[in-house]
Amino acid sequence: MAKIKFTLILFLALIQTRLCAQSPWPNGLILTPERSQFQKTSTHKDVIDFLNEIKTQSDKVFVFSMGTSLEGKEIPVAILANPLIKTAAQAKASGKAVVYVQGNIHAGEVEGKEAIMMLMRDILLGDKKHLLDNLIVLFAPIYNTDANDKMAKGLRPSQEDSPIETGQRESSEGFDLNRDGMKLEAIETRGLFENVILPWDPQIFVDLHTTNGTWHAYPLTWAPSYHSAGEYEPFEYSYYKMLPSISRIVFENHQLQFGVYGDYNLEEGWPPKNFYTYNHHPRYLVNQFGLRNRMAILSEAFAHNRFYERMNSTYIFMAEILEFANKNAHEIMDITQRADDSTIANVLKNSGKIKKGTQYKLAPLNQLNDFITYDYIKALDSTGNQKYYRTSKLVKYSGIEYHAKFESIRSSTLPRGYIVPAEFTNVIKNLKQHGIQIEVLKNNQVFEGESFEIDSFTNAKTSFQKHNACTLNGHFNPAIKKFKKGDVRVDMAQPLSNLIFYLLEPESDDGLVHWNYFDTYLTQPWNKKKPMTYPIFKYFEK
Ligand SMILES: [Zn+2]
Repeated sequence: MAKIKFTLILFLALIQTRLCAQSPWPNGLILTPERSQFQKTSTHKDVIDFLNEIKTQSDKVFVFSMGTSLEGKEIPVAILANPLIKTAAQAKASGKAVVYVQGNIHAGEVEGKEAIMMLMRDILLGDKKHLLDNLIVLFAPIYNTDANDKMAKGLRPSQEDSPIETGQRESSEGFDLNRDGMKLEAIETRGLFENVILPWDPQIFVDLHTTNGTWHAYPLTWAPSYHSAGEYEPFEYSYYKMLPSISRIVFENHQLQFGVYGDYNLEEGWPPKNFYTYNHHPRYLVNQFGLRNRMAILSEAFAHNRFYERMNSTYIFMAEILEFANKNAHEIMDITQRADDSTIANVLKNSGKIKKGTQYKLAPLNQLNDFITYDYIKALDSTGNQKYYRTSKLVKYSGIEYHAKFESIRSSTLPRGYIVPAEFTNVIKNLKQHGIQIEVLKNNQVFEGESFEIDSFTNAKTSFQKHNACTLNGHFNPAIKKFKKGDVRVDMAQPLSNLIFYLLEPESDDGLVHWNYFDTYLTQPWNKKKPMTYPIFKYFEK
């Protein structure tokens, strides 16, 4: 009997050894969620400890800081490269494509942060080393550092209750960091642009989020950078080739069905007839990237899944994006280079002749078929009103209008350039923060073009991101104007001309007027006479 018992114990021990593989990594690389049955997410210190540990395990990683938060926390960026590089100049010289992936911009959406660390382990120490053949990968796992550590229960009310506590959405300065792509006001955004976007100029930017909206049934949904005011080809490639191809591979290799990002509205009835993406404004970092002629991907895990499932879907999406980018690195680099070239060519050929959109509306793009969602039934609630109740039944609906196209509802002539009077130092500073080339006039100079006459202006009654958005009403007039030595010329014949146009056009729905850069000028007592002239002049001839 004892012998049988001993044999049985030995047998069970063997099975257990086989089933529970030894960790392939040292203890310091096992993540906080993995150690806590997915009840906890990593703190800023946990992430820093992880990065310090992985640096001792691999010679293909270098970590730098893109900035220091309000509360003094470094925002780490890990460079993964084979052979190792440490500077943007080395990346450029390598001829490889640079991909930048960031997690935790909204610190209640924690899975991107964990999934980045999972993927770092596999690239540096596991079976994904080949991803560095044609890529330099920059990972910022914990972008919104301060907010990450302000952990509490219930900060994501409609998210599955795992982990038990998460960080908060806003930065410690009170900004939504994903509405800061034009004004570049937050400490984190300034660090991102100064130390990552401008020097490294990534071909692809991936922003990792988790949506707690509509109960569709996709474990992850995605959106590209919307092309409304930017070059078409990077959008076309990412939306019609890269993302569908990645989704197909994810389905074949991982049995997960990813879909396009959006929400339906139950007030329109059931089953859904429309599915709406978010909007085109370049205040969203992913859209801002489109105006830089680069590709960008919004990744939204499904908040209603459990934490470990959200980590898994985010990890798989990121891994397959990198697989695709590694295989197609040269094509991607060619497309972004062509977009730079065609931006400049368009200005040289068409300035003064064509119009470009300054305000946009959402419109249908295509139809979604076999759309998977949790089903709803209509019934009376206790007060006798009709209500939709969500069921746990998964259904597929077809013929749903996907609203993901942006049509211009207001436009303005494409100039050869703009003149910014020297006293508008806030505007000049913003242009430089974006990496826009400017030139200080060495002599007084006369320019011919259009000036915008302001009939009236209004400020929004409700504050958004600490701003009461400004709107100008007026019209353009042909004009010849003299500017002084020291004023600033912004020549549009540069790769960022689409961004310049969106920032400086007076009627732009997300430009510097909107974000109150001209409020002081507009409200000066001497400026009460009407019409006022918008101080930025657009010229057509160099
Ligand atoms: Zn988010």
